[in-house]
Amino acid sequence: MKESYIERFFELTYLIEDYYSGGVRKQHSCIDVNAVVGEIGVEEMKRKNETGIEITDRNETEGKRDKGELIRRREQLEKIAREVNACRKCELAKTRIKPVPGEGVLDPLVMIIGEGPGGDEDRTGRPFVGRAGKYLDKWLNAIGLSREKNCFIGNIVKCRPPNNRDPKPEESNACLPYLLKQIEILQPKAILTVGRISSQILLGRTSGIGSLRGKVYYYMDIPLVPTYHPSGVLRNPSLRPYVWEDLKLLKSVIEK
Ligand code: SF4
Repeated sequence: MKESYIERFFELTYLIEDYYSGGVRKQHSCIDVNAVVGEIGVEEMKRKNETGIEITDRNETEGKRDKGELIRRREQLEKIAREVNACRKCELAKTRIKPVPGEGVLDPLVMIIGEGPGGDEDRTGRPFVGRAGKYLDKWLNAIGLSREKNCFIGNIVKCRPPNNRDPKPEESNACLPYLLKQIEILQPKAILTVGRISSQILLGRTSGIGSLRGKVYYYMDIPLVPTYHPSGVLRNPSLRPYVWEDLKLLKSVIEK
């Protein structure tokens, strides 16, 4: 209980920080603060399986999926994780430390897709665990989402491009089937692409993220909202108001 109050205190502190330092008073006030600090009301059982993929079961009282379906999903995701861990289909296999198959719940509201693992992810085998990942967690929390409760996080390429360069077309082409299979299995209610690369690849467009964001698209019949990458926003805080607009758009999509 004590811990929960501390978490709430920090969440509110972060909101206040954004509220004042980002100049986003108007946009921020539209975010449902109850969703930020409220209890989501799910019991969680978290386990790390032998493949390295971390999957959280959601045991919702009004569970949308039956247990058999969730077991089937888990088995399929574990199979993909095993394939990724053994994969050498592109050059990135030579320089990676650990592949990063992705992680989250088996019945996600939102699937978050970035371009590829960075240094922290390469070392741990987990997506978005560095500074940008912690910032992403704040974004998700602000609209009642979290990787532990109702999201799944993955990348276009599962292995780190050296020096965090953009993935080459042949690398993203080689790796994309894993992500497509994950989307097909998980059937999220919406997709949030973070950054230029994942947005361009899934939308099949070449425009910059500044012109792609702010709209809802569809990918495999699933609504897709593109926004900036958290590391880009950390470098350029003036982008914060746009991210909040996109998060509110995403929230409106999943509430439909
Ligand atoms: S990036 Fe993807 S395709 Fe390339 S080696 Fe890693 S898992 Fe295989």
